[in-house]
Amino acid sequence: MNDYYAILGVDKSATPEEIKRAYRRACRESHPDVAGSTPEVEERFKQINAAYEVLSDPQKREMFDMGVDPMAPGGGGGNGSGFGFGGGTGSGFGSFADIFETFFAAAAGAQASRGPVSRQQRGRDQLERLTVDLADVVFGAQADLTFSTFVACDLCGGSCCAPGTEPVRCQACGGRGATERVVRSMLGNMRTVDACRTCQGFGTVIPTPCPECAGQGRIRGSKQVTVTVPAGADSGNRLRVQGRGEAGLAGGPNGDLYIVFQVRRHPDFTREGDNLVCTLPVPMTAAALGATMVIETLDGPQEVNVRPGSQPREVVTLEGLGAGRLNSNRRGDLKVVLDIRVPTDLDDAQRELLQRLAAERGEEHPEAALASTAGSVFSRLKDKLAGR
Ligand SMILES: [Zn+2]
Ligand SMILES: [Zn+2]
Repeated sequence: MNDYYAILGVDKSATPEEIKRAYRRACRESHPDVAGSTPEVEERFKQINAAYEVLSDPQKREMFDMGVDPMAPGGGGGNGSGFGFGGGTGSGFGSFADIFETFFAAAAGAQASRGPVSRQQRGRDQLERLTVDLADVVFGAQADLTFSTFVACDLCGGSCCAPGTEPVRCQACGGRGATERVVRSMLGNMRTVDACRTCQGFGTVIPTPCPECAGQGRIRGSKQVTVTVPAGADSGNRLRVQGRGEAGLAGGPNGDLYIVFQVRRHPDFTREGDNLVCTLPVPMTAAALGATMVIETLDGPQEVNVRPGSQPREVVTLEGLGAGRLNSNRRGDLKVVLDIRVPTDLDDAQRELLQRLAAERGEEHPEAALASTAGSVFSRLKDKLAGR
């Protein structure tokens, strides 16, 4: 029976921490990469791993302390004698073992045939926010975006190796990227294939990693892209820019860049769907008499026709001067909401004029009559904005 304590060189009273330390030391000394890949070295390395598997597991360690080898074929049924390490399958379990071995060997074969995995990995997709002006999304625009990301390492060009060096075949797995392991269980030997721990499954190791990127083939940096802001875009719309995300590992392809637009608040115009809305203060007299007022729109100066008798919150529509819609040439309208201003600073002459007007219109003592809410200025405004 194997003496797992002796293999790791620790006492029977060793703590889990001491066992772990002893295991690491033994691995360093006996690793096939270090000690050379001879059958003896590999056998010793297997024993070290078996010893650690037993002694690091409280249950298995207890079994072993009671004189049972948990790693012996057949699960250590008995005192260990007659179930020698590597001495074939335990008697009585032969038929099961054969079945399992065949089964797992087939599974393992399928796995192993995949071969080493590529060091190259595609970079991750990246999401960046881009704040743009209202005019940018109304007319479409170009905007520069600089963002922090991974960029390919210039020094090694993504090879991960220091200049003048190259990856070498992994000694531990012979370049296959996988190691086969026989696990002894109650049902016999089971073969499992694991990614090689030495090369992480790459099949090669990098003896001298690139000092610039620490062997990753990429470094933190920043990229700049010129973004075409499509006309009609709105806050929350996403744009995918293919291949401009994070640089991949080891020269792998870039991920994609996703840009989320955030439209800056405009002091004068708010967006409601395809339309733009603004508020135009109109003197009471202009509302009553009618006027043509000029406002500065996103399309430059435009005339707003205030009809005689315009009511508070009445809406004047300037067609085609609104916002756009993605993938459409048609623009919505600019809705100008009239904000009729009643003077609060009348001087004596003005007050007299208004009193004469009131008398002329018989409005000196206006009669009280409530208006129904259905036709109120508020519901009219809503209807108007909704295009009803
Ligand atoms: Zn590099
Ligand atoms: Zn390997």
